[in-house]
Amino acid sequence: MAKREILVLPDQRLRQVADTIPDVDDAVKQLAADMLETMYAAPGIGLAATQIGEMKRLVVMDLAKEGETPDPIVMINPEIKKYSDETVTTEEGCLSIPEIYYDVERPAEVTVEYTDLEGKRVTRDAKDRLAICVQHELDHLDGVLYIDYLSRLKRDRVLKKFQKAEKLQKKAS
Ligand code: ZN
Repeated sequence: MAKREILVLPDQRLRQVADTIPDVDDAVKQLAADMLETMYAAPGIGLAATQIGEMKRLVVMDLAKEGETPDPIVMINPEIKKYSDETVTTEEGCLSIPEIYYDVERPAEVTVEYTDLEGKRVTRDAKDRLAICVQHELDHLDGVLYIDYLSRLKRDRVLKKFQKAEKLQKKAS
């Protein structure tokens, strides 16, 4: 297994749309393992392949709380089939937008269909934190970031902050 570098805003690869994975082969299993390792090391509760520059429709998650048994979830070619009318507002963060947190309103429950590591198509009803995490991670596969749901003013403030940080880093290196 290998830990991978997580791309940070304003890296334009975060805006690309990921491709469907044709087969659950060894390369896909290795990528999932690398992503879990990268996510746990961050630490984070979810990671999409696009966040490490792999344009593949693959996300990993683990919503177990500290002290609980790890509960890694790998979703290949995931699709949300149903959204609840009821919405909920949750504070979200993103490993690609570090140290920033904003409230986002999303459907409270979703039904997600995906292929697991055995190549089996699975349907899962998600609610609470899992429902929010699924929506956040699947957005990444379409190049969508949670800051896109904020007001233009707030989003521009975040973008400016990261553009400035990138410039400073380029100057220093
Ligand atoms: Zn994210």
